[in-house]
Amino acid sequence: MSILGSEQNPLRVAVVGSGPSGFYATEALIKSGKTVRIDMLERLPVPFGLVRSGVAPDHPKLKQAILVYDKIARSAQFRFLANVTVGRDVTIDELCAHYHAVLFTCGAETDRRLGVPGEDLAGSHTATEFVGWYNAHPDYRDRVFDLSQEIAVIIGQGNVAADVARVLAKTVDELKHTDIAGHALEALAESRVREIHVIGRRGPAQAKFTNRELRELGELDDCDAVAEARDLELNPESLEEIANKNNVVSAKNVEIFRSFTAPPSGKARRLVFHFLKSPVRLLGEGRLERLILERNHLQRPAFQQAARGTGETEELFCGILFRSIGYKGLPMAGVPFDEKSGVIPNRSGRVQDANGSVVPQVYCAGWIKRGPTGIIGTNRACSVETVGSLLADLPNLDATPRAGADALYPLLETRGVRVLSYPEWLKLDTAEVERGKPKGKPREKFTRIEDMLAVLG
Ligand code: NAP
Repeated sequence: MSILGSEQNPLRVAVVGSGPSGFYATEALIKSGKTVRIDMLERLPVPFGLVRSGVAPDHPKLKQAILVYDKIARSAQFRFLANVTVGRDVTIDELCAHYHAVLFTCGAETDRRLGVPGEDLAGSHTATEFVGWYNAHPDYRDRVFDLSQEIAVIIGQGNVAADVARVLAKTVDELKHTDIAGHALEALAESRVREIHVIGRRGPAQAKFTNRELRELGELDDCDAVAEARDLELNPESLEEIANKNNVVSAKNVEIFRSFTAPPSGKARRLVFHFLKSPVRLLGEGRLERLILERNHLQRPAFQQAARGTGETEELFCGILFRSIGYKGLPMAGVPFDEKSGVIPNRSGRVQDANGSVVPQVYCAGWIKRGPTGIIGTNRACSVETVGSLLADLPNLDATPRAGADALYPLLETRGVRVLSYPEWLKLDTAEVERGKPKGKPREKFTRIEDMLAVLG
């Protein structure tokens, strides 16, 4: 049999998921020096995962990563099979039969739970739903957010919370020339939200915002960012944390929070930061009306400080709430999964079963491998590591030649799956850009799968 990864026997890899880690893994495989064929499978008709449906519409620079992915997608070694749900339209066993290796880069698709009473009251939403809704993700197209409420609460102080806060706080003029979904812009134009409370369970020195994202919250056209000076007093451990030269982001964050203690300038909206408070109960008759917060203090040494309840509570009236406390991966039938951490158990990207043994042929990268941390670029190193493991395993992989997508296309056709290709995505892309032009938007995204399919005929 010819050597795996040679012209006679190309290494065939199925990449499941078309977000950053999928494209960086594809890039690493193409650059490996081996002869490779990569087929990328995607559940939606459109590519790019969170870069399309997670990155905030008013952060267009972050979306420029798509230019890199587009270049990768045009490589001769690459095929895109969109509108295919792995686990439903095609099984993992079938992928393993038609490819030498299967690489999961399917991200973290759901949210962590708060685990407090009232969490599921009407009016209490996950950040995922809201972000998907304003970014035109078809799964969230029909979600309804009651923006007639004047007081909104966001739980969590990470960059997703910052995105949600900005979208709620910005004026229509600040959003209308972005690629925000049309339905979201219409609803936000009618928004009566006046106060947005952003709640952190730990202190200002432990907030997870990056400096740029936090600073931006103080530079909004018609919203004042507000923090209380007494809430910015730090305990000795937090002072030690911000004095550490490896922790300049937190030190800078505290400085930015201090700038929010200036008297508000009387803008129409207020964005209020709370620290050392945890939600313990959401209350309301049939829908959210109030939130009970417990005051916390910090325990344990610097850099390990954890929030502990003091037993003292306070009440905050609010009509809409967003839980932005981190994402979590979803299990896929036939693939090992660690329920607690929400990732596929792995060693350097090699998937492991419940006994810790490596599952041959199966790999993972990105958030489903290491959890939902880091910025877009963090996924490059993560994917490179996984591809390194895969290439090191080549001598041990079954080298029997595989057909890849040539075997999948007929299989999927018999199952009635309309597989979409990369050129078809480019057609959708052009159509979206055209739809955006009259509105001065970079694109008007399609929000329903049937509309996308209709454009393609
Ligand atoms: P994150 O950065 O991990 O922030 C989660 C926040 O939720 C933290 O403040 C955390 O507090 C809090 N939290 C967790 N469990 C909680 C609980 N039970 N009760 C109350 N608060 C709780 O997660 P994220 O905001 O979802 O962001 C995910 C990743 O995407 C991050 O790496 C982020 O930087 C990245 N991202 C980047 C951008 C950008 O670059 N512009 C935009 C969006 C997202 P503790 O610290 O106490 O755990």
